Amino acid sequence: MITIKNNIQIDRMRKAGKILKETLDLLEASIYPGQTTLRLNDLAYQYIISQGAKPSFLNYEGFPYTICASLNDQVVHGFSSEIPLKEGDIISIDCGVIWEGYHADAARTFPVGNISIEKANLIEATKESFFAGIKDIKAGSRLGHISHRIQVYLEERGYGVVRELVGHGVGEKLHEDPCVPNYGKYNSGVVLQEGMTLAIEPMSTLGKRDVYLEDNDWTVTTVDGLASAHYENTVLITKDGVEILTL
Ligand code: MG
Ligand code: MG
Repeated sequence: MITIKNNIQIDRMRKAGKILKETLDLLEASIYPGQTTLRLNDLAYQYIISQGAKPSFLNYEGFPYTICASLNDQVVHGFSSEIPLKEGDIISIDCGVIWEGYHADAARTFPVGNISIEKANLIEATKESFFAGIKDIKAGSRLGHISHRIQVYLEERGYGVVRELVGHGVGEKLHEDPCVPNYGKYNSGVVLQEGMTLAIEPMSTLGKRDVYLEDNDWTVTTVDGLASAHYENTVLITKDGVEILTL
């Protein structure tokens, strides 16, 4: 069931989104060669708690961290560790914040020091595919518009689009209906309504789109070992467009 949020619920999600954006900004400023993802995880936890909010991911279905820290060929749900980041790595950070019972969900891929042009282009294209996806979207648009545009944007540039994981509705629960795939037919899917809130999250690969689940039963990684990027925001569908709650 797709829930429509009222103004009180939307305001809670705006606040969650603001704290989440600040958390991601703090982490971005803390990424450098030698930094550890465990330290980034701690920084995120401390900041979210200091704002009177709660992390969405910690203990979600048993997930043991505040952030997902997915390195290089890891697509999503990477575990934090003591292993120092290296120059040339890319790190995808996914995080969620709960404010008064309502979630916001967002992800970014960041460079560690100087990275290859291939990885930089992958990060940029993944971000831009999100904006291509939401272009001209408003109440009355169909969900497939978003999915199709993300797919076309990435595939036209030669990138893989991960299919095993999708975006989702978000609100009182971290994962709500509908599923928001990053691939699909243009004129398909549910008709979007004012007050729907969606986490739209393209996940791309430098090589083939095939992925596997690591032994920890969480982390999803590319089969060919090539890099992956992730970009996600929580958005509100409005009469005239979309409001991005995590920017
Ligand atoms: Mg997320
Ligand atoms: Mg999400």
